[in-house]
Amino acid sequence: METIAERVKSALESIRSATLKSNRAPNSVKLLAVSKTKPVSDIMLAYEMGQRSFGENYVQEGVEKIQFLQAFSDIDWHFIGPLQSNKTKLVAENFDWVQTIDRLKIAKRLDAQRSPHKKLNILIQVNINAEQSKSGVPPNEVAQLAEQIAQLPNLTLRGLMTIPAAQQSAQDLQQTFDMMNKLFTELSILHTQIDTLSMGMSNDMQSAIAGGSTMVRIGTAIFGSRATRSKN
Ligand SMILES: *Cc1c(COP(=O)(O)O)cnc(C)c1O
Repeated sequence: METIAERVKSALESIRSATLKSNRAPNSVKLLAVSKTKPVSDIMLAYEMGQRSFGENYVQEGVEKIQFLQAFSDIDWHFIGPLQSNKTKLVAENFDWVQTIDRLKIAKRLDAQRSPHKKLNILIQVNINAEQSKSGVPPNEVAQLAEQIAQLPNLTLRGLMTIPAAQQSAQDLQQTFDMMNKLFTELSILHTQIDTLSMGMSNDMQSAIAGGSTMVRIGTAIFGSRATRSKN
């Protein structure tokens, strides 16, 4: 079995080769290591390989790890799970990024609860395939929510995030990523500070990068499969 160190290395190599293959600039795609349900010792193994961005899905679990690893202040912590109103304070006080914003109400709470000294980076989650039960705003509502978030002084809008529908053909999936890229490009004309398009996971990374992703979120391929799901 490969070690975490070896898997970080091969994830970086896959990102690099997909980036080259798509004729994109080297280092234009970042790796977010998704460490949900995994112990801090696993995070440290990835950290020793130079990995600095980590994603967590569950508030309580994420905050415990952030506080435990407080001394490693060069880590960027991304909240990538569904976020309810009653949990915003912990997220505002501990994380560096929130990738799952799809309501102004949540953004306003985070803004009010964030210290003015360091802004919280925000991605709007887009329900790109118009799935019934999925979080995220419909594509035609992105511009308005972006405009509203841009008014909030303690947040910085950095871009968009999506989780595409499962079970799409390779062709449909590529089209989905292309639609996201178009939305992202249009939005960055109005909001020039935008620089992050978070899409692609362990098994669809190649086409996400071909479609313009600037951040892939990789869990299983680095830390192995997840046996248990921790509570929120
Ligand atoms: C768990 C998770 C990932 C990582 O998924 P893997 O299949 O383990 O690579 C990426 N993004 C989000 C939003 C997740 O919840």
